[in-house]
Amino acid sequence: MKTLFLNPPSFDGFDGGAGSRYQAVREIRSFWYPTWLAQPAALVPDSKLVDAPARGLGLDDVLPMANDYEMAVLHTSTPSFQNDVKVAEALKQANPKLQIGLVGAHVAVNPEPSVLASDAIDYVARNEFDYTIAELAEGKPYAETNGISYKVDGKVVHNPERAMIMNMDALPSVIDVYKRDLVIEDYFIGYLKHPYVSFYTGRGCKSRCTFCLWPQTIGGHKYRTRSPEVVAEEVARIQKEMPQVKEIFFDDDTFTDDRPRAEETARLLGKLGVTWSCNAKANVPYETLKIMRDNGLRLLLVGFESGSQRILLNIKKGMHVDFARRFMKDCHKLGITVHGTFIMGLPGENHDTIKETIDFAKEINPHTIQVSLAAAYPGTFLYNQAMENGWFRQDANGMVASSGTQVSSLEYPDLSHEEIFEALSTFYKKFYFRPSKIGEITWEMMQSWDMTKRRLREGVEFFHFLNQRADSV
Ligand code: SF4
Repeated sequence: MKTLFLNPPSFDGFDGGAGSRYQAVREIRSFWYPTWLAQPAALVPDSKLVDAPARGLGLDDVLPMANDYEMAVLHTSTPSFQNDVKVAEALKQANPKLQIGLVGAHVAVNPEPSVLASDAIDYVARNEFDYTIAELAEGKPYAETNGISYKVDGKVVHNPERAMIMNMDALPSVIDVYKRDLVIEDYFIGYLKHPYVSFYTGRGCKSRCTFCLWPQTIGGHKYRTRSPEVVAEEVARIQKEMPQVKEIFFDDDTFTDDRPRAEETARLLGKLGVTWSCNAKANVPYETLKIMRDNGLRLLLVGFESGSQRILLNIKKGMHVDFARRFMKDCHKLGITVHGTFIMGLPGENHDTIKETIDFAKEINPHTIQVSLAAAYPGTFLYNQAMENGWFRQDANGMVASSGTQVSSLEYPDLSHEEIFEALSTFYKKFYFRPSKIGEITWEMMQSWDMTKRRLREGVEFFHFLNQRADSV
């Protein structure tokens, strides 16, 4: 079946599709690669992947595609679901014969209401949907396809679960889909060199952080990986076939979860002379960091979340703040750049812990930071906890504002949603508006004209973001 994989048009600048962990419009315009759609697209011959937000496409741009395909697979998320359903309805109206399926964590957790949300939706593919979609595209009947929920006479049928993919090497590379269908210059992340390419070398995370969406839904808690040799082959292909790429990012939840493999992969990458970066937990020992650094590692994206040990315990982070301090000292010593991510409004947050976390961030001093508002996605431990404790705001209308930026959907007896929301701007200001940080960024800008232009553009967007927030509490 001729298949269209679509990251649907959405809020302007919405980085919420098939590759982003926090689905929202960012402080600085950024887009992750739509990796979760690219993988099944690589399994379906003659398919096409369209990433509408990254390409700046609206509904009028994608509707004419409806008649060119027999099946459309749309990636959806909790914040974008209502909008994605409208896109599905418009596509179905344009081509009533088009079979439309939804994929993503939101439908994996809520298959029944999702498939019933509209007559335009023919099925939802739950959990790891790569082979599910490949089988449907080959024409396998719904009744025989594991992993889908679909309607028969208005009633929802849930087929048996599809087994988790254990042989990751058997999945084809997404690089051919990126080359064929995406414009790599569209993908921009403030702390990565541009253009960059990101892809997965494995799925799943051993940790059980209560707020974290993918390991609790599609990815699971077993880290399933491609072999170091296969990863090195993919990287060598990128070097050869996409020579403009300046950095490769391994988007695995926690690339360092399997240290021997991370070290082995690093050694192979070192032979290629490539600049690379990855997600890591702040528990990687100095020796492993050094091996990775010596073999081309430039940056680590690390989720610190909080500087309060009590909050780290509340969210089951499995991390001690003193480990994180030592880890950061090691990174500074080795010259590894760190982009640190933090969350405001996790269970147990109060004015003291907000201050503690801001002080902690300034003390460990990652090069750049991202601060998010706690978001309780359906399917997570945090979601159930928030439901049981009445932490969801009664007046909240979803997880994002009409502009697509995050809103604080949680609040606590001692901390209002307005206070959580305010903490985010305070955090950014206290972290970035320090003489030492301004000096660091100025120095970085002086190294190249490209970096100067980029940081100036980001600076303008950042100030705009801070001003805009006053309107979106
Ligand atoms: S370590 Fe990171 S990826 Fe793993 S569960 Fe925690 S937040 Fe999620």
